[in-house]
Parts: sequence; structure tokens; C-alpha cells
Amino acid sequence: MKLKAFHKLSYGMYLVATEYKGKKAGYIANTTFQVTSEPEQLAISCHKNNQSAQIILDSGIFSVSVLKKEVNMKIIGDFGFMSSTDIDKFNGINVITGKTGAPIVLESSVAWFDCKVVKSVDLGSHYLIIGEVIDSDLISDEEPLTYQYYREKYKMFSPKNSPTYLEKSALEAEKSADSPVKKLPEPEHEHVFDGESYVCLICGFTYNPGEGDPSMGIPPGTAFEDLPEDYRCPICNAAKEYFKKA
Ligand code: FE
Repeated sequence: MKLKAFHKLSYGMYLVATEYKGKKAGYIANTTFQVTSEPEQLAISCHKNNQSAQIILDSGIFSVSVLKKEVNMKIIGDFGFMSSTDIDKFNGINVITGKTGAPIVLESSVAWFDCKVVKSVDLGSHYLIIGEVIDSDLISDEEPLTYQYYREKYKMFSPKNSPTYLEKSALEAEKSADSPVKKLPEPEHEHVFDGESYVCLICGFTYNPGEGDPSMGIPPGTAFEDLPEDYRCPICNAAKEYFKKA
């Protein structure tokens, strides 16, 4: 089996949102697709660990917003890598309520669909959920974001709950053996860190220089400035430029 073959499958990027008894939930999905035209039906695949999955099944409603190409990365960070139990993902963004009662995110979107669940299929790790489109609208003529563009621009991986998630280590094992592993230069002098830390703006991961990042081979005591230029967030794979001093 060749894992990289899966990267030849094309997808868009969507924000799926739902609400049940006043509780909103939402996540970023690439697996959203139209499955029939009469009636118009969309299918989504949602991980069971994802809070949205149960809320969609309980409420029987969901919306799909089609994200625009130059998406606000905070939307990706909040909806793609954070849990609704930790933050209010809908706070401060442009959201309307659809005919079904589902919240519809307009922020960074070019079109939306308001759907009523007609069927769900238990696929083990995920539910395949089919919804009839009750309403839809076009917000702008801007280009929609494709999964390929997102992956190439941001060099990001799918979150673990994504149906298209691939093990990073397994993918790297497929890389040719002649790509040299970069060695981290030894720090020239000792730093006093005084509790400073850097937060990934995409997923919220915090880099503490005193602790380093053993998961990425970074020894304790490595200042943020001394991280290799190709250092990436161990959670969401965001590049260094997405980190800000906390
Ligand atoms: Fe991150």
C-alpha cells in the first residue's frame, strides 16, 4: 500500500456546524461532497470523538460553509484543532441561523448549505452522515479553498480525527532514504528563559524553551530563535512564523 496515493484524492475545505439544545459545535472538514441532485443531498464524514458528531445526530441538522481560498487561519485553528469544550469557537465571528436552526458560519466562506440529516452510517471510527439541503446561498465569487492548496501552502497535516489522516511517521518512512536529516546546531551559549513561551496561533500548542520539544528532537534549553527554520508545531505542523510570544 502506498500512503501517498491518498494525497492524489481531491477535496475542498469546509466548516461543518451544528447546534442542539443551545450548544453549538463545529469542525473543519475536507470530506464533504454532494451525493445526489434530486433531492440535493450532501454527505459528511465525522469522527466519533468529534463533539460535533453526536450533536449532529441528536439535532438532525448541520450546515456546511465552503471556505474561501485565503481563509482566516484563526478559523482553521479554532475549528480544526481546538475542542468546543475548551473554547467558544463561534465567539466573535459572523454566524447566522439557518432554516433548520443550524448555525451557519459566514466568516471566510464563499457559500453555505443548510441541511437536515436523512441517514447516518456507522463506519467504526466515523459516522457517514447524509443530509438533504434545505437551503443554500452564495456569499461571494471568490475561489474556494482546496485541500491540496491548504496542504501545500501551510504544509499541514490532517488532524487525527480527519477521515483522511495519515500517520506522519508512516508518510516520512515513504520519503527517499537519501533526504538527509538535519542536525540541530548546538546552542552557543546558555540562555536564561525566565518563563518565556511561544504559542502556536493555529492550534494553541505552547513551546517552552526550557523544556524544548523532545517530540521533534529539540533538546531542553533551546531558545525559540535557535529552533531550525524548518521547525514545525508538533500538533498541527504549522511553521515557525505561526508562533507568537505568549
Ligand atoms: Fe500548532
